[in-house]
Amino acid sequence: MRLPDIFLKEMQGFFGSHKDIPEEGFIDSFDEPGYKGIRFSQSKTDVSDREKILADIGEHTDKVDWCSCGYYVPEEFSNRNPYYHAGVYYPQEPSAMLPAEVLDAKPGEVILDLCAAPGGKACRIGEDLQGKGLLVANEISFERSKALLRNIERSGIANSVILNENPDNIAASLPGFFDKILIDAPCSGEGMFRRDHQAVKSYEEYGPSKIVPVQKDILEAAHICLKDGGEIVYSTCTFCEDENEGQISAFIGRHPEYEVIAHPEIKGVWHNGETSALPGSMRILPHLAKGDGHFCVHIRKAGASTDTDPGMPSKDKLKATERKGIELAKAFLGELLGDDSDELTDIPLTIHGTGVFRIPFDEKLFGRLKIVKTGLYIGDIRISAGKTLFAPSNSIALSLDTEKIRKDSYISLAYGDERITRYLKGETISISGISGIKSSGYVVIGVDKYPLGLGKISGSSVKNLYPKAWRMM
Ligand code: SAM
Repeated sequence: MRLPDIFLKEMQGFFGSHKDIPEEGFIDSFDEPGYKGIRFSQSKTDVSDREKILADIGEHTDKVDWCSCGYYVPEEFSNRNPYYHAGVYYPQEPSAMLPAEVLDAKPGEVILDLCAAPGGKACRIGEDLQGKGLLVANEISFERSKALLRNIERSGIANSVILNENPDNIAASLPGFFDKILIDAPCSGEGMFRRDHQAVKSYEEYGPSKIVPVQKDILEAAHICLKDGGEIVYSTCTFCEDENEGQISAFIGRHPEYEVIAHPEIKGVWHNGETSALPGSMRILPHLAKGDGHFCVHIRKAGASTDTDPGMPSKDKLKATERKGIELAKAFLGELLGDDSDELTDIPLTIHGTGVFRIPFDEKLFGRLKIVKTGLYIGDIRISAGKTLFAPSNSIALSLDTEKIRKDSYISLAYGDERITRYLKGETISISGISGIKSSGYVVIGVDKYPLGLGKISGSSVKNLYPKAWRMM
């Protein structure tokens, strides 16, 4: 392919000053097709589940060396697959799996993903939290935040807030709040040239020089949001040193309380040594590994870390219709999960407009910020002919642990059962051949043990409640 002259000159300089990095094959790698990957959900699958699913979908492919739950799939692999709709895996370019692996979110941590859409890394972070702690996933573009919302909903991550904000506003509202921050920065996108021809066009128009100051501002905002002892992972999909090693060395120059956390050798990842402007930082190089170009560095702020308490929801004064709506939402959850489930008893449900939510933190913390979604959306209160009714949200099904769903309320369809496709297309399905299911009320429909969505039983058929916008066309 034709590569921009400025880029070719920049890379000549790069390999000229890093004699330890092999150059041969670098330019040719842009004429190769690139790799396609899927990353399995850490919360919905374990190793044996992944093997079964790979066998089901007919892909016996290699693991991605730098991601514990990542696999390669062939170019023709399609996401018109029920496991995708159940949030069992996320399609992700293999190199893009590295930053969240390096961040290594632990249950209970409070984590900010500052540049989160469409959400591949945010979903991984949320899965690693295992329902404990908090994920704040921010996207500055409202249009792009819609894809982030959909992907987080599909992953079933309930302990999350999705923001549509400028990083400076988050810094002003939440100084010293986060244990860890991921900055998967907007960049000149040189690593994407081989798969996205638009990236070359946009590079020729803007180039790295316009984006370097933007990255600097994002880093400064992250510095304010991060607590003492906290960690930042900074990543880009470009080779340009000014956006990578140079950007972070300058940041550490301004803030000497930060140091690089060097990671032990990760197969397939080039670990920058002493000739680099930033020893301990990492690169994935397309001629040396099975992935697009990527940069990633892990830095820590000095100081003793204290626990962040994301608080608990406060009990608001409710109107009569809202109280009734909450009662109906609880009845719905009780019907699926049993009346003594944690989802019903551990925290009070909250109302926003006509929506009923379960928010396991104090959302007033985000009061001055533009919220796209907070916590788990259970459903909507509707008034019809003077009566208060409740319409459940389909997204709740994706965040439920199948083990907790009552046996008579879970319809498990084996992978390959044609009723799955019909359900995902919005059709009514029959439950013939499935025993032990109640005769009326709400049910969860799933592929094997992975919930896909809701339905309503009526005799031997299930009325489809799968949202139009989510349907498989
Ligand atoms: N982390 C995402 C993922 O894994 O799916 C990909 C993020 S993409 C590389 C960078 C994101 O930064 C884009 O969604 C873009 O809209 C956002 N962005 C652009 N300018 C920004 C700014 N000034 N502050 C914060 N984010 C910005």
